[in-house]
Amino acid sequence: MEYNIAVIKGDGIGPEVVDAATSVLDKVGEKYGHSFRYEYVLAGGAAIDQVGECLPSETVRICKESDGVLLGAVGGPKWDDVPGDQRPERALLGLRKELGLYANLRPAMVFDELSAASPLKAEIIAGGLDILVVRELTGGIYFGERATKETPEGLVAYDVEKYSEGEIRRIAKTAFDMAMKRNRHVTSVDKANVLDSSRLWRKIVAEVAEEYPEVALDNMYVDNAAMQLVRNPKQFDVILTSNIFGDILSDEASQITGSIGMLPSASLADGNFGMYEPVHGSAPDIAGKNIANPLATILSVAMMLRYTLGLSDEADAIEKAVDQFLKKGYRTFDIAGGGDTPLGTRETGEKVAELVG
Ligand code: NAD
Repeated sequence: MEYNIAVIKGDGIGPEVVDAATSVLDKVGEKYGHSFRYEYVLAGGAAIDQVGECLPSETVRICKESDGVLLGAVGGPKWDDVPGDQRPERALLGLRKELGLYANLRPAMVFDELSAASPLKAEIIAGGLDILVVRELTGGIYFGERATKETPEGLVAYDVEKYSEGEIRRIAKTAFDMAMKRNRHVTSVDKANVLDSSRLWRKIVAEVAEEYPEVALDNMYVDNAAMQLVRNPKQFDVILTSNIFGDILSDEASQITGSIGMLPSASLADGNFGMYEPVHGSAPDIAGKNIANPLATILSVAMMLRYTLGLSDEADAIEKAVDQFLKKGYRTFDIAGGGDTPLGTRETGEKVAELVG
C-alpha cells in the first residue's frame, strides 16, 4: 500500500528528530511492503524565513490532501520579536483549526528502565506508569470570545470558556473509545463546583458513558486531579478534559515521567486523519548537535500507523523496537546515566530501525 505523509520538520531539533523517525518508518515500509511518500512542507520559523508567514496556505492544502501529518517542532529565540499573531507557534493553532484536529492524545508513560528519571519517589511509580490524557483541542477558552476594554474602573480583560454539547460529546466518545482499548477507566476532569461550562461537560460525559457500560467513569475536580497526578498517578487510565485543563495537566503528566524526549502525541480529526508530533518543543539549546532524543518522534510515527493508517502490527513493531533499544541498554544523551555511552540522534534512528527489522 502507498501512503502520503505531509512532513513539517519545523525548527530547532525538529529536522533532526523527524529525519530519524522517517528512517524508522522507511524500515517499516521495507519490512511490511508499504511505501511511505513524504511531502515536505513549511510551517513555523522556517516558513517565516522562507515565505514570510508561519503557516502558508500551500502547507494547509498539502496537509489536507495527505493521509496524515508528521511534525517536528516549531519556534525558537530567533523569532522572539515577531508580533504575537505571526509567531511560529501560531502555526500550530492554525493547523489544529484548519485540519479540524479536536482530540489531542498524550500518553504519559514511564518505561521501567527509565523509572529513575521520574521526579516522583520510586514507590509511587513502581511497576511503570501508563496514562493517556485526552484533551479537547479546538474549543473552550483558547478559542472563545476575548477582549480588553477601557472602563471607568480601568482596563478590563476577559476570555470566555464556552463548550457546546456536540463538542463535549465527540471528545468524550474519543476518550471512551480509547479506554475500551486500554484499562476501561475514564476520569473526566472539570471544575463543576464553580463553572457552568463544566456542569454541562459533566452531564454530557455521563450521557456518553451510558453507551460504554464496560468503562468505569469517575469525575474529578481539576485542582484535585493536579494533586492526584503526583500523589497517586497509577489510579489513572484515561484522563478526559477540556482544552485549558488538558494543556496544564498533560504537561504535568509528562513531567512526572521525567523524560520529555520520550513522549509522543496525536491530534485527531473526525475519521482517521491526524497530526503526530513529539510533546517537546524545538529545544534550540541542543539543535544541530545530533544529541536530541528522537524517540518521542519515532513513537509518534507508531501512533500514526495505529490511529490514522490502521497498521497496528507495524505500530507494535516500532514500540517493541524502542522497548528493545532501552532494554539492551542504549540511551540518548538526555536519559543516559553515568556508565552509559549515549547514541546520537541519527544513530538512535538507525538502531531502532535495525531493531524493527
Ligand atoms: P523544549 O521542549 O523545546 O525544551 C525544554 C528542555 O528540554 C530543553 O532543555 C531541551 O534541550 C530539552 N529537550 C526537549 N526535547 C528534547 C529532546 N527530544 N531530546 C533531548 N532534550 C530535549 O521547550 P522550551 O525550551 O520551552 O521551548 C523551545 C521552543 O519550542 C520555544 O520556541 C517554544 O515556543 C517551542 N515549543 C514548540 C512546541 C511545538 O512545536 N509543539 C511545543 C513546545 C514548545
